[in-house]
Amino acid sequence: AKADGRGTYRFFETGMDARAQARRLLEMDLRAALQRDEFQAYYQPIRDVASDRVVAFEALLRWNHPHRGLISPINFIPLAEETGLIIQLGELVLRQACSDAATWPNDIGVAVNLSPVQFKNPNLIASVTEALEKSGLAARRLELEITESVLLQNSEATLTTLHELRAMGVRISLDDFGTGYSSLSYLRSFPFDKIKIDRSFVSELATREDSVAIIRAVTGLGRSLGIVTTAEGVESDAQLELLRREGCTQAQGYLFSQPRPASDVAMMLERPRLR
Ligand code: C2E
Ligand code: CA
Ligand code: CA
Ligand code: CA
Repeated sequence: AKADGRGTYRFFETGMDARAQARRLLEMDLRAALQRDEFQAYYQPIRDVASDRVVAFEALLRWNHPHRGLISPINFIPLAEETGLIIQLGELVLRQACSDAATWPNDIGVAVNLSPVQFKNPNLIASVTEALEKSGLAARRLELEITESVLLQNSEATLTTLHELRAMGVRISLDDFGTGYSSLSYLRSFPFDKIKIDRSFVSELATREDSVAIIRAVTGLGRSLGIVTTAEGVESDAQLELLRREGCTQAQGYLFSQPRPASDVAMMLERPRLR
């Protein structure tokens, strides 16, 4: 039994080593990539459902790795958050998004995702201010997307930060609505301009009656609270039709376009659908 225990322990230890090593390698790779400027914001259009016009683009981070190609943020954001590198990475996206958006028509906004780690950083307001000043982008054109997990943290500090950002003219969106510890009281306690209905509800629209009920409830809530609703992950005309019928304000998804580099923004503004 002792030998077994030891064997198991050794095996476990080796497994941990391998994992820890993979993590260390990825961390080194991330740091080098920041030095080598391998990160780039891609943009996905957000459309107004009633007018069918593009109203904004969401910036989505990509790592353009010299050997591994384009890497999705889900593969490196968690480690960037653990190591604190997300602060640097987040500032980079914010600066890039603001300076790109400053070259677009001035009724087109830009949405930037904020990690809860960035949100807790006391420098957040200063870096948002700096990104706006350096780019010349009007604050009203910038939307910051936060997830519900931010609201679980120190709520008084969170509230102060949200109010400061809004006082600057920046808009705040609640991302992935319905997936976390959603509580309707958040909508009353925190000043949001927009609710983004998570993709999972949209993708189940055709197959689940209760998803339709949820979309109806959220769009209704948005209307009565004066909050814009955006549906994420719209992939079909049937989904778009249903969203239109339910009075959802905006839609975003592969039906219109995948996220693309900044050089494709003009094309995305001209052509209604690019898949
Ligand atoms: P998110 O903010 O919920 O972004 C939406 C994700 O859904 C994006 O994945 C987008 O490419 C994808 N998507 C858009 N339309 C469709 C569709 O019709 N169908 C499907 N199946 N997917 C669609 P992406 O770009 O891989 O980003 C994943 C997540 O990584 C984001 O989820 C966000 O949480 C995070 N992320 C991305 N960029 C940043 C960033 O600059 N900073 C931070 N902190 N997080 C970021
Ligand atoms: Ca988002
Ligand atoms: Ca989302
Ligand atoms: Ca998401």
